[in-house]
Amino acid sequence: MSTFKTLKICVTGAAGQIASHFIPQLLNGLIFTDSIKINLSLLDINIPPVIKMLNGIKLELEDCNYKSLLSVSTSTDANEAFKNCDIIIFLGGFPRKPGMNRSDLLNQNSKIFVQQGEALINANENCKCIVVANPCNTNCEILYKSAKKKNEKINKNNFTSLSRLDQNRCESLYKICNNGKEEINGIIIGNHSNTMVIENNNNIKFDEKFIEKIQKRGGEILETKGLSSSFSAAKAIADHLKDWYYGNNNKLISMGVVIEKDDEIIKNKNEIVCSLPLKLKGNFEYEIEKEIMKKFMNDENTKEKIEKSVKELNEEIEMINN
Ligand code: NAD
Repeated sequence: MSTFKTLKICVTGAAGQIASHFIPQLLNGLIFTDSIKINLSLLDINIPPVIKMLNGIKLELEDCNYKSLLSVSTSTDANEAFKNCDIIIFLGGFPRKPGMNRSDLLNQNSKIFVQQGEALINANENCKCIVVANPCNTNCEILYKSAKKKNEKINKNNFTSLSRLDQNRCESLYKICNNGKEEINGIIIGNHSNTMVIENNNNIKFDEKFIEKIQKRGGEILETKGLSSSFSAAKAIADHLKDWYYGNNNKLISMGVVIEKDDEIIKNKNEIVCSLPLKLKGNFEYEIEKEIMKKFMNDENTKEKIEKSVKELNEEIEMINN
């Protein structure tokens, strides 16, 4: 008789475009080995065409005969969808609409993440969260702080946001520029925005044009394709989840993580979610790579860029609070 471990995994925004690329990767053995079986929970909003779509997705997934899939459930209620979850991937968010300013967008999304943070009380206490919906760092901070109000003992290390797409872009475009002759370990620090700081663990000084290309890549895709990144985002979430679960001894991995207030490197007056280089040790454990952060903070130019991006993260939260 085969033995296996079961994980309940929820994907929010399950009727959206990233979900349609991510879910097949999740179930196809690209992230977890055969010893893990999945109960999949799909959450989206309560409007008839979306519910119809969710139900259709459930039927198709059941037809795929994935080795790993035990069950699929659908819901429009986060309390129900998160029940007993071990992992939640947060793709669902409010998109920017014509006439909306940045503060409107932040406020709409903050309402969603306050509610979903409260709903985390229904998930397993150690449920691991990956926030992708933008602004992903700020949404993750709101999620964490809202969950903490319901359970003050909640572990801050359970909350992460996606920087891996930016890291993948940096490493992949560098390799492409060099015809595959040189591979690097890219590092992303700060916000997932144009202020993100792009560095590496190879003592290479990047050209400013290269940095700008990575910072603006999301916009370039949106303009060229007419839609935001989807399969590259799905691949990045798969990389993030796989490395967070199994560890990665080969390189530093960038993720948005909760940094305590007055952290020894990023001295901030509040807890914030900020992308940093991490050593991933397996079983969802990580350590911030402090030595390389100290090296970056000793360089006046890099320090200034990091502080600018951290300031922007603080401003996003202030825009919501006001
Ligand atoms: P999409 O618009 O195709 O799908 C979003 C889905 O979320 C929709 O089905 C929508 O109905 C649903 N949704 C909205 N509010 C919800 C709620 N309260 N609860 C549950 N579901 C809800 O968007 P997409 O292309 O799949 O992108 C998803 C998110 O990921 C966007 O916010 C996008 O900006 C972000 N993104 C982040 C990165 C990154 O690197 N961090 C990269 C690409 C995209």
